[in-house]
Amino acid sequence: SEFVKEEFSRGTLRIKTVEDILTPLKDCFMLPSSAVLDFSTMSEIMQSGYTRVPIYEEERSNIVEILYVKDLALVDPEDCTPMTTITKFYNHPLHFVFNDTKLDAMLEEFKKGNSHMAIVQKVNNEGEGDPFYEVLGLVTLEDVIEEIIKSE
Ligand code: ATP
Ligand code: ATP
Repeated sequence: SEFVKEEFSRGTLRIKTVEDILTPLKDCFMLPSSAVLDFSTMSEIMQSGYTRVPIYEEERSNIVEILYVKDLALVDPEDCTPMTTITKFYNHPLHFVFNDTKLDAMLEEFKKGNSHMAIVQKVNNEGEGDPFYEVLGLVTLEDVIEEIIKSE
């Protein structure tokens, strides 16, 4: 029945975590903050097909900003604008969530905020050294919706 289906999909959202559904860091399309918005970089962004591009500094695990493809509307590739000029201008907030965040909580976060992407991190205390935040990947509203559809 509809009720059972609804309960089932709610159950899934209560049990599953963002770690279960994220796009792993190694598969994320990202660019370094040192990038220059020349013809080659802008074509690469367009060809990726993604709307949001995390920007990292030095290492891919160090995401510092986010570029929206629509930020490029007024950028002329001839100008070879530094990436940071654009990201600092728009300054979109970055959202971080922990790996054990349940999908129902994540859905609420996405509904509240105006961003539909979050960076998933976990506290890594496996090694000898001090615990540190490890970035696992990214999750978007689309990923949560996909889980809801799958469970229906
Ligand atoms: P939109 O649908 O708002 O245009 P999009 O197609 O770029 O955005 P989503 O629809 O939010 O992205 O997500 C689709 C899938 O792509 C999800 O699995 C998400 O985790 C993944 N994804 C989103 N952005 C990236 C990215 N920069 N690199 C790799 N995977 C991404
Ligand atoms: P994105 O979030 O992928 O950057 P967006 O902000 O342009 O895209 P959506 O998030 O898809 O748009 O939609 C937000 C709201 O704005 C929705 O209610 C949608 O119907 C409305 N909307 C989207 N595009 C237009 C438009 N061109 N004119 C008026 N309303 C729009």
